Amino acid sequence: MIARELSPWLKRAGPWMFFVVGLLVSSYLFVITPVSIVQMPLYALSLIGSAVLARLFLPIRQTIPKRRRGRGPLVGWGVLALVWITVATLGRVSDALLPIVYGMVGFPLAWTALLVWELLWKTKLLPCSKCDTFKYFLRDKRNWFCSNCGSKYSPHRPPYTSAAEGWQPPKTKSEDRR
Ligand SMILES: [Zn+2]
Repeated sequence: MIARELSPWLKRAGPWMFFVVGLLVSSYLFVITPVSIVQMPLYALSLIGSAVLARLFLPIRQTIPKRRRGRGPLVGWGVLALVWITVATLGRVSDALLPIVYGMVGFPLAWTALLVWELLWKTKLLPCSKCDTFKYFLRDKRNWFCSNCGSKYSPHRPPYTSAAEGWQPPKTKSEDRR
């Protein structure tokens, strides 16, 4: 457990930057959406549709080296660009189609939510004895595997082989507070 407390805060904070961006984008889109549009069924449909699109755009499963092969996203950049361009065009064609445009907020919203789920449940920053540093570990059933080298995490194994050479994890702010 000590090892986790010593983790470099930047590595931990990095992915949360995407969360903040996603949250800001979603909030902004919500704020600029007229109330009359939010009440339309077409808006709800677009919200759900774009949320599904966000899920399909993310990889189905991440690769664990030497253990399992990842499965890529079902929707690529090409399809995504096509959808966005189509939606943007629809908004210009008729005001009646504007709920579809505003409903696309479902995309950053779902993306942000999925990222949080991934960060809190599927990944963990742990010391890897093979990589000699903190790496993101991926959950596979009950075990955690290094996303870089694929080795299984064991709390009983000494976390750092380079500890003897004087390597020290950088002190974190959270550590000072404890
Ligand atoms: Zn590793």
